[in-house]
Amino acid sequence: MSFGQDLRRRNIERLGAEEFDLVVIGGGITGAGVALDSASRGLRTALVERADFSSGTSSRSSKIVHGGLRYLQQREIRLVYEALSERQRLLRLAPHLVHPLPHLLPVLGSSKAKAVVKLRARAISSALWMYDLTGAARIGKLHRKLSAAKTLERAPWLKPEQIAGGFIYYDARADDARLTLELVKTAALDHGAVVANYVEVTGIGHSGAGGNIERVEVRDRLSGTEHTIQSGVVVNAAGVWVDEVRSMDEGSHPRALRPAKGVHISLSRSKLPADLAVVLPVPGDKRSIFIVPWNDHVYVGTTDTDYDGPLDDPRCTDEDVAYLLRAVNAWVRDPIVASDVTGTWAGLRPLLSDTSDTRTADLSRRHSVAVSPHGLVSVTGGKLTTYRRMAADAVDAAVRVLAARAGTTPSSARVFHRPSGRLRCRTARLPIRGAERDSAVELLVHEHPDLGGTLVPGLPYLRAEAVYAAREEMAMTLDDVLARRTRSLLMDRDATLAASEPTASLLAHELGWDEAETQRQVNAFSKVA
Ligand code: FAD
Repeated sequence: MSFGQDLRRRNIERLGAEEFDLVVIGGGITGAGVALDSASRGLRTALVERADFSSGTSSRSSKIVHGGLRYLQQREIRLVYEALSERQRLLRLAPHLVHPLPHLLPVLGSSKAKAVVKLRARAISSALWMYDLTGAARIGKLHRKLSAAKTLERAPWLKPEQIAGGFIYYDARADDARLTLELVKTAALDHGAVVANYVEVTGIGHSGAGGNIERVEVRDRLSGTEHTIQSGVVVNAAGVWVDEVRSMDEGSHPRALRPAKGVHISLSRSKLPADLAVVLPVPGDKRSIFIVPWNDHVYVGTTDTDYDGPLDDPRCTDEDVAYLLRAVNAWVRDPIVASDVTGTWAGLRPLLSDTSDTRTADLSRRHSVAVSPHGLVSVTGGKLTTYRRMAADAVDAAVRVLAARAGTTPSSARVFHRPSGRLRCRTARLPIRGAERDSAVELLVHEHPDLGGTLVPGLPYLRAEAVYAAREEMAMTLDDVLARRTRSLLMDRDATLAASEPTASLLAHELGWDEAETQRQVNAFSKVA
């Protein structure tokens, strides 16, 4: 079955016509994980996302699948252990999506300050032993020490006089938007979840005043049609919008979340050539930045600042760029200037609020699952890396809500009249789709050689990938293709804008856009880019 606009249309009809055990609000990594977990337990599952899948925070992360070395410093050992277990599991279940990535951690300091350098190297070594013992070594390699010369061989752009040595340790990396999309596809195509993007939840309905939640009101943002979804339980996986969805249930805004903004900038890889991620401290701030290779580019990030602007469109400001450039330029031989920046992106971390005035960088990355008196299950916080565990906890809570209602609604009665044991989480062993994509794109090029041309000059994407995105990845807009099915916009904004008209023409053919709609897509894209 094709995962394209026809399936989306059919799914939206089904949302209004059928009854579901569990409806997920939000198609970021958390919601996608919940849909897969729920559908694979055998629950009749629907997922609605008000924009594109992953268009919130889940396409704007640093894309590192990791335990988080710095969380060890914050003594979050359990969090690191769990995240490293999840990293390992993802490397096994989705080797086509998640790849090991060596990280270089230089030991900084002049060779004259031998005692200081020795202490610093010892501290890093202890932290990396701890990281390996907490689970990092399960990737198959232990961290190792490098001489100053070897460190400079791996990152020749570092100022040699500041480098006293280095360490290599291992984490992993994934295209966050693709991982999210493949989870949604796995939930839908392999386990029967009914999913749709551009479907917004506009209201939550209870059984009488103050009663249990039993329905969700939605609007198809592309056609304007409205539907009511009947559901046994509702999971709120709306990321930084989680409080907005809770207010539909509770009637007032809970303000439980404290969003923190993080930005990244992209540069040509020729500016900072490296085949591994490089971790550098930010002078004057107790944080580090990462320089990560990505095809012919590298990206640098991230910042971590409190955010109280509009949730829908966080932007990378001149000050954000200046912060990252200052941090990089403290360590590189040839300074990077603002005009070297080819792309930027900004995302909001859905961090759990605490009442103190702690910096957002120090707030915990743990997740929480809360159930409202009416049965809304809200899952918040967490990391891209730990989505599966968050999903399992959320669906366990949802199953408890259904159990408490057993016999009171037809849906819960149906669920609990099945053989026991079926409702246990199965995702620890479920493979994730996506391995078939490369050969399907190749086949398209074989059948239509004109699709073998480059989509955006200077970037490694083919015209066939845009066609595949429309036919098999539920891409509905030009932005879906240029920002998430491919990552063109993130890496090179100007080249991507220049390619927006030819890409829109290609999509017009696939998605049935007339001339006016094609132009509207190009205009809309120029505003978000
Ligand atoms: P989101 O991805 O924001 O998804 C929520 C979705 O809900 C959105 O798509 C939104 O459109 C939808 N929604 C909202 N309201 C409605 C409604 N009414 N109806 C329907 N849908 C609705 N984690 C890591 O593990 N590794 C990293 O390297 C890493 N780096 C990060 C760097 C930055 C700068 C940031 C900001 C985060 C980073 N994270 C990282 C954390 C990780 O990205 C997030 O924890 C994760 O993406 C959150 O996913 P989510 O699904 O909860 O939220």
